[in-house]
Amino acid sequence: MEERVGRLHVIAGCMSSGKTGELIRLLSRHAVIGDSMVIYKHAVDSRDGCMARSRLGTEMEARVVDRPDRIAGDGFRVVGIEEAQFFGDGLVPVVRGLLADGNHVYVTGLNQDFRGEPFGVMPVIMSLADELTLLTAICQKCHGVATRTQRIIDGSPAPWDSPLILVGGADYYEARCPDCHEVPGRPVA
Ligand SMILES: [Zn+2]
Repeated sequence: MEERVGRLHVIAGCMSSGKTGELIRLLSRHAVIGDSMVIYKHAVDSRDGCMARSRLGTEMEARVVDRPDRIAGDGFRVVGIEEAQFFGDGLVPVVRGLLADGNHVYVTGLNQDFRGEPFGVMPVIMSLADELTLLTAICQKCHGVATRTQRIIDGSPAPWDSPLILVGGADYYEARCPDCHEVPGRPVA
């Protein structure tokens, strides 16, 4: 096959917007034509072990890694990267390297953190995309269009100054529209 630069498709969106389902759908098109593929997911997301699993019931095997430099093309033509917001700035040169090597790269991630602020490396990754899919969910409060991720700690909306990643904490997340998204203690702009 001739040498070509790969393509980057980024799938961004809030909690429960179907990012993993969309990733699996996009990768399944490559499976039809026999492209080899691998999915990496960050170790912070320990749900489902070594599987990328969607709410649609679809799933693909994934390699769990804790650093971006553990992500490699390894002879695969298509590389999927889940939960990119956790990987940090080191993900950018890794993705660029994969593209230069001719890999087709699919990246999923939360574009905003629980405060509604740009989440980690995602804004940069989105700016490099050849194709960008921005998914929405349904607001769990009013059933409107959700674009935000609401964080709940001990049953209450998480305050602005709570840590970005709470390991083993009693927090959970749900999809909210901008009207229902609550961040107590947000600094006045
Ligand atoms: Zn709402």
